Amino acid sequence: MMSQINRPEASLVSTAAANHLSRGQIELSVIVPIHNENAGLKEFFARLVPVLEGLHLTYEIICVDDGSDDGSLELLLAIREQLPNLKVLSLSRNFGKDVALTAGFEHVSGAAAVPIDADLQDPPELIPQLVAKWREGFDVVYATRARRDEESLLRRFSAKYFYRLFDLITDIPIPPDTGDFRLLDRRVVDVLVRLPERTRFMKGLFAWVGFRQTAVVYDRPERHAGRTNWTYWRLWNFALDAITSFSSVPLKIWSYVGVAVSIFAFLYALFLAGLTLIRGVVVPGYASIMVAVLFLGGVQLITLGIVGEYLARVYNEVKGRPLYLLRGRWGFIDDASDRHHPPR
Ligand code: UDP
Ligand code: MG
Repeated sequence: MMSQINRPEASLVSTAAANHLSRGQIELSVIVPIHNENAGLKEFFARLVPVLEGLHLTYEIICVDDGSDDGSLELLLAIREQLPNLKVLSLSRNFGKDVALTAGFEHVSGAAAVPIDADLQDPPELIPQLVAKWREGFDVVYATRARRDEESLLRRFSAKYFYRLFDLITDIPIPPDTGDFRLLDRRVVDVLVRLPERTRFMKGLFAWVGFRQTAVVYDRPERHAGRTNWTYWRLWNFALDAITSFSSVPLKIWSYVGVAVSIFAFLYALFLAGLTLIRGVVVPGYASIMVAVLFLGGVQLITLGIVGEYLARVYNEVKGRPLYLLRGRWGFIDDASDRHHPPR
């Protein structure tokens, strides 16, 4: 694999002064996480580039190849020949969209950054509206979908209740029906990049940083090629990461559940004692004992599982491994690894 790809030119480090100049010149950075999007990439650029050109500002497109194995990287490098504004990062394997976005953010040169999906579900035509709001003085302009009826019922249902639950047990206000498609001022990007955590629930982090935020509403179209990278198992793990990153409620409620179960057990014991006094010893009792044992066993296992979820994440943070590894970078003048990565 590696040998087919041009060697990254990143090692040709330029002077710090030149870096600074080049960074100051770019106004808008578009970040595109890419995992097996070969089928739709050409169409994506065909729509994105005219929009960016029409804005009359200096821009860069940072594509983060998140361990694609369908030739997306080779295609990107080919597109780069005609599109000098395109910069490419290639991660050493599939790290997941949130990590891919973080890698992109760490390489942003622009005064503002727009993360956008490669499947054209985030219409590039919306970018001018985002930029307009940014110029009005907002630091974060997020794109809110007017409807999401292109998705399956189960997915919409689970998303809705997940975000409701998230809202209930954390104090991070995540705007409803909002993906990662948004514009972030450079100030916000710099803060995001500096957040040290490895479990990166981007939507939560976006909301956590605050700043002046506003919304732009759009209709989310269907994926125009390829298929979604999100299986239900992946979504479930995503939800677990999200909640355990931003809330300790699941750790704490168990003491209350324990108290409630104990009170109930105490009352039940009183009731049984009373019953024995009135009726004498009744031998059958097998059912109630089994119910109590199984119920408490279940509660204990759940509790242990929840402690495990958090412990696993603490472990993950403590290990201190880099968030991602780069296999190559193309188009970057300065060596961003000097700035804030990889030792995180
Ligand atoms: N993606 C990625 N890494 C992954 C999964 C997805 O970089 O592990 C990218 C994908 O190529 C696309 C974007 O993230 O550009 C959104 O993915 P997808 O369309 O599968 O998500 P959905 O729209 O279903 O939420
Ligand atoms: Mg999609």
